[in-house]
Amino acid sequence: MRTVICIISIVFACSVPAESVNVENIRIWAAPESTRIVFDLSGPVDHKLANLTDPFRTVVDISNARLKNDLAQPVNADRYLRRLRSANHDEDLRVVLDLKKIAMTKSFQLEPNKTYGHRLVIDIYNDEIQDTSVDDVMEEREEALSAARDVVIAIDAGHGGEDPGSIGAAGTYEKDIALSLAKKLAAKINRVHGMKAVLIREGDYYVRLRDRINKARQYNADLFVSVHADAFTDPRVSGSSVYVLSQKGASSEHAKWLAEKENASDLIGGVKLEDKDDVLASVLLDLSQTASLEASIDVADRILGGLKKVGKLHKRRVESAAFAVLKSPDIPSVLVETAYISNPAEEKKLRNPAHQEAITSAILSGLESYFRSYPPDNTIISQNRSQEYVISRGDTLSEIATRHRVSLQSLRQANGLRSDRIRIGQKLVIPLTGS
Ligand SMILES: [Zn+2]
Repeated sequence: MRTVICIISIVFACSVPAESVNVENIRIWAAPESTRIVFDLSGPVDHKLANLTDPFRTVVDISNARLKNDLAQPVNADRYLRRLRSANHDEDLRVVLDLKKIAMTKSFQLEPNKTYGHRLVIDIYNDEIQDTSVDDVMEEREEALSAARDVVIAIDAGHGGEDPGSIGAAGTYEKDIALSLAKKLAAKINRVHGMKAVLIREGDYYVRLRDRINKARQYNADLFVSVHADAFTDPRVSGSSVYVLSQKGASSEHAKWLAEKENASDLIGGVKLEDKDDVLASVLLDLSQTASLEASIDVADRILGGLKKVGKLHKRRVESAAFAVLKSPDIPSVLVETAYISNPAEEKKLRNPAHQEAITSAILSGLESYFRSYPPDNTIISQNRSQEYVISRGDTLSEIATRHRVSLQSLRQANGLRSDRIRIGQKLVIPLTGS
């Protein structure tokens, strides 16, 4: 027998549309912890959601609606969705979401914005979030705590999913550029001995701004770097900029404008944040933000120094603005606007893999230089900074290199060695990078 286990939410819109509403399109965004289904509508709708079991499925009833196109189907890797089905009952449209396992659902409608029209959004998620990647990292961290740990850098690819970010004249989406740069930067960081990168967003889905910060904290990140490539109203504007948080006035009108635009992401990608804990957040902010901000400015300045070698800078100094994503009270956070996607020449460059390599190398050099100067306690870098190795009998240079996870080449270089001959009692400096 089929049993109704729960009806999570029954939502009626206030206005009853007189004529039939078209469901123009259905988009599915699979994130690691949830799946979002977006119905693009010709107007607001009345809808009901019911979760049924045997098999697990969610039934979406939309009053007085018509499906205009074929149903989208989930990717195989989707953790929640097996498939979508639809049927018409009189004037109403029923879409059935067949699930792979029991899950929670919620739904809400969004007003039109610059990118999309009316939307009905359904989120499928599980309350007990089991993020294996977080667990894995935490486990590794625990093990590492007894010895020296890696410096952890959280890399946040801006936008994602139904928030494309800015769009270039040639059709390039900022969200795609940001993800590509984030992945390249992460790979580079992971090649540095003593540094580890975690990606806040790993695919094409939206993560709420507050959740981006929380995720970085879950990973115990030492630094948060948000990667963007924004647009300005004037296509001639170009160059890289690096931002830190400002609680009061932004350093320029331009910075203010940009921050407002970035913060609006949550209005595109989801509902407005519930800001219950904002009072608490602002108290915490005051307490520990001064120290974080100093560190943020230092890192930002070094990243800017790296970017200067790759291309033009928009502003030669670190700028500040009230980006929501930089509001971690305890994790130094910077936002890199790599270039202006609204500038046709920069849009072209941003798509170029070689240029992406150059940008990410520049950011890495800033990060490395900062952590070499100020390594957090108990990290491999803090130990390596003054680490010396005294040669004993039977040692070979290549074996020392392997043991310390550095390349033979960098070991030779760090010690100015022309050959691999070493003598007992000789002191070697163990360099930081392994590649
Ligand atoms: Zn952006």
